[in-house]
Amino acid sequence: MTAPSMRVGDVDVQGLSDGVLKTSVDVVTGMDQAQAAQLAGSDDGSVFIPVNNFLIRRGGKVILIDAGAGNTMQPTLGKLPANLRAGGVEPGAVTHILMTHMHPDHANGLVDDSGNPHYPNAEIVVHETEADFWMRPDLANHEDRVKGNRARTKTNLTPYLDRTRRVRDGEEFLGFIPVLAPGHTPGHTCWLLTSGSSGFLAFGDVVHLSAIQISHPDAAVTYDLDKDLAIKSRKRILDMASTERFAIAGAHVKAPGFGYVVRNGASFAFEPAG
Ligand SMILES: [Zn+2]
Repeated sequence: MTAPSMRVGDVDVQGLSDGVLKTSVDVVTGMDQAQAAQLAGSDDGSVFIPVNNFLIRRGGKVILIDAGAGNTMQPTLGKLPANLRAGGVEPGAVTHILMTHMHPDHANGLVDDSGNPHYPNAEIVVHETEADFWMRPDLANHEDRVKGNRARTKTNLTPYLDRTRRVRDGEEFLGFIPVLAPGHTPGHTCWLLTSGSSGFLAFGDVVHLSAIQISHPDAAVTYDLDKDLAIKSRKRILDMASTERFAIAGAHVKAPGFGYVVRNGASFAFEPAG
């Protein structure tokens, strides 16, 4: 099976699905629910969020962006290892995993049920702000969802601790530049790859519902830890992607997630690639 791919300069970016997350239009905030349902094309309030991962081979390295949910969320997720193998890549061949952030649908697939690494030879690359936030001890006043994900992040990263690279904003590694886009999580990171005159931005969770949040960037989701900051980051990244004409890949944009963002007045629109 050949995974869908996009050419960026002389680099091939492959889209690999981890599956689909079923949720409800109730997660959308800052917008009338009926309008949200209509934009999402939902009759009964259910919405389906694709979970996309990306694979890049460059300079002898096999680089994955995010690691999927494993079998921790819904049975429709956790398909990444099978899809990797179907594309001829054994998980043991992955050399680096660039994390957009440490939420369950991106990071729980790093380990199996026993806490052993799914990617025994991979180095984890994560923004220092994101790693620090989730690896920090809990304080009594933290929300339960923060406490829960802190505990899980320790499980996810423990087998990789001696091969975790923490990077700063703008610090290039393997040709990728981390672009901090906080709000959804404190260290939420987009990864910018340039090749020749082409640029590619894996923008993670800048949008969760692409049918809603690209045209209505003021709509947030309950998953955001800081909604106002997430909205600000979304507008900044969508503006950057459209102005620079970067190819984009969204973790939750309709699979395989490739396309371009174009300006549409004060808002934006999505153009699928190809
Ligand atoms: Zn996500």
